[in-house]
Amino acid sequence: MSNCGKVWLVGAGPGDAGLITVKGKALLELADVVIYDALIQLELLAQIPEKTKKIHVGKRAGNHSATQEQINQIILEEALKGKKVVRLKGGDPFVFGRGGEELELLLEHGIPFEIVPGITSAVSVLAYAGIPVTHREFTSSFHVITGHTSKGKKKSVNYQALAKLDGTLIFLMGSSSMEEICNRLMQEGMSPDTPAALLERGTTARQRKVISTLEHLKRDCDRVGIQTPAIIVVGQVCRLANQLEWVEKLPLGGVQVLVTREKKKASTLSKKLLEQGAHVIELPAIGTTAIEDKSEFQIAVKEIMQQKTVQWIVLTSPTGVEMFFSLLKKEKIDLRRFLSDTLRFAVSGSATAVALERYGIYADLMPKKFSGKDLGRAFETSVDRNEKLYLFRSELADEELPNYLAEAGFYYKEIPIYHTIPHMDLEWVESVWDSIEKKEIDYVTFTSASTVKGFVQAIGERDFSIVPAICIGEKTADWARRYGMNVSISPEATMDSMVKMMIKNKERFD
Ligand code: SAH
Repeated sequence: MSNCGKVWLVGAGPGDAGLITVKGKALLELADVVIYDALIQLELLAQIPEKTKKIHVGKRAGNHSATQEQINQIILEEALKGKKVVRLKGGDPFVFGRGGEELELLLEHGIPFEIVPGITSAVSVLAYAGIPVTHREFTSSFHVITGHTSKGKKKSVNYQALAKLDGTLIFLMGSSSMEEICNRLMQEGMSPDTPAALLERGTTARQRKVISTLEHLKRDCDRVGIQTPAIIVVGQVCRLANQLEWVEKLPLGGVQVLVTREKKKASTLSKKLLEQGAHVIELPAIGTTAIEDKSEFQIAVKEIMQQKTVQWIVLTSPTGVEMFFSLLKKEKIDLRRFLSDTLRFAVSGSATAVALERYGIYADLMPKKFSGKDLGRAFETSVDRNEKLYLFRSELADEELPNYLAEAGFYYKEIPIYHTIPHMDLEWVESVWDSIEKKEIDYVTFTSASTVKGFVQAIGERDFSIVPAICIGEKTADWARRYGMNVSISPEATMDSMVKMMIKNKERFD
């Protein structure tokens, strides 16, 4: 069995994508196949590389989940193909996760495996609800119990013993037998006043809690209508839930944002959002590639290097900067030959300026506001008409800047150096749309017209009026409106402004 694969049984944590272990995350990056079930959130799934084969074995709208035997078989088959298989399970794989059963078949076939424990919902969902699982004043133990067995399954739960423990009782899979659980505990002598809680979809953007007592938990849950997954907690520690509540108080606590920027750039925005407590689903809607035909670039560069008069290199996006220098490198052009005293650099905004500074070059010209017109105006007021301008840009860059320059009487050349292509990992399109329909996504961020177009192209013909689009800049917003989206625009064309606007909206809502 020399070329057989290997299986990693990995705990994904309870929902918040940040609660997977470092090891688990690293394995997601290197797996050939990820087999996951229904509890895994989109915010984590979207982090699996696009090339990785994904197999969903949980329940999905209308479909039944695979049986345990089928799942075992799928894992085995992939491993026998020689693949690196990650079996991704909610929480910890061994806490009511049937992880043990999934290993039996692998053992039989001599397939190597590793287990990567996860943060179990039994502890973390409580923490996110402000309930410490133990507390010196209230309890000296905690117990994790299945709520299923109360329906007369194999091993029955000893309620008599539980009622006497004085520990924190944590019931998993117990929502549908909540009434029975509470009644049994009271019958065995627990006070009806004992604090009890139901914690729904804990650690996700939509977590909710109902804090009550053993006697009234069922009634209080019925009032709000609960969803799964949910945990029932019984014990004095539930008293602390209000006092220690913290998630809901974060500036963007309970807010889920879909970020559509290109992968390389998405993380800046995502970090800002995470810092404020938001949940972020990163699903780029565009990608960029260098242009195939480099002849125009080669000609322009040659010209620039031959001329002795002042000339400008104009770069209008951080991607443009990256592409420009990577093309120079590909052409094996030594920067010492290229950068002369008469060469100037103009950028359209601060992000592009920062990208340029990474190459040790400080821009000579940058408009105060970020738009093609503003850059044109900056040239008009401070640059001599004899100086030549070279615009190295995306093939699809708009005509605002060139039109302005032409009118102002400048000599300029446009040199396309990269394409922006609509691109989304189609694996998640249905899940994204489903989340938007269920109002589980509060904002879809669009930072350029091309992200709008990429998103629309991937999603296909739908009623976009339910898409809560938040856009940078009028032009981006125009495109979003064209598809009928529900559009808001950040006051300034920066990501900070976008984040600030979300915080303000939440304050108003709270
Ligand atoms: N292995 C998992 C538990 C699997 S059993 C773990 O360690 O967390 C499934 C049960 O876990 C659900 O019925 C529910 O009771 C609980 N659960 C899992 N994730 C949850 C979440 N995010 N919020 C509330 N309960 C959750």
